[in-house]
Amino acid sequence: SNAPCLLDAKQMETHLQRLCREITAAFGDDPSIALLGIRTRGLHLAERLKAMLEEVLQRDVPLGVLDITLYRDDLSELAGSPIVRPTEIPFSLRERSVILVDDVLFTGRTIRAALDALLDHGRPKRVWLAVLVDRGGREVPIQGDFVGLKLDVALTHRVAVRMKEADGEDSVLLETR
Ligand code: 5GP
Ligand code: MG
Repeated sequence: SNAPCLLDAKQMETHLQRLCREITAAFGDDPSIALLGIRTRGLHLAERLKAMLEEVLQRDVPLGVLDITLYRDDLSELAGSPIVRPTEIPFSLRERSVILVDDVLFTGRTIRAALDALLDHGRPKRVWLAVLVDRGGREVPIQGDFVGLKLDVALTHRVAVRMKEADGEDSVLLETR
């Protein structure tokens, strides 16, 4: 395709390394951190950050999964209700510093739904947000704490995040909807 490339594999890796450095700088050796990846590509990003953090910290960093789908009554509409599916969180949220990880932050509704589900499930010390791409367009006051690429993408466009684990290659492209 001729969709403009926003990140190639090397640039994606560089962003992830920087996110890892920002996370370790923010937490020091706080043992309470845990990652929670939002399926599908947020989980792959969380798995990569887990490996990078474990390498630096020389200890296990727990990883859980949230499955959130945005149901749209009308496909032409951007608004919809995010549904949080049964999650795999293999650690207690109590007193945890939980880092939610997703590929793209857009309206913020998905993260809002993730927070609702998390706070129903337990009482973390604090919840943070890491995203590979912030495309702008927020409808609620939610921001990323650790942000890779920050953009202002028109509603007519979509950020295609491709990852080896799901798509066979690492890249971020700008596509028309
Ligand atoms: P939000 O709920 O913030 O509107 O959207 C965030 C969720 O929708 C993310 O989990 C992400 O997967 C998906 N999403 C929204 N916009 C885009 C986009 O432009 N590209 C991709 N790849 N995903 C998007
Ligand atoms: Mg998603």
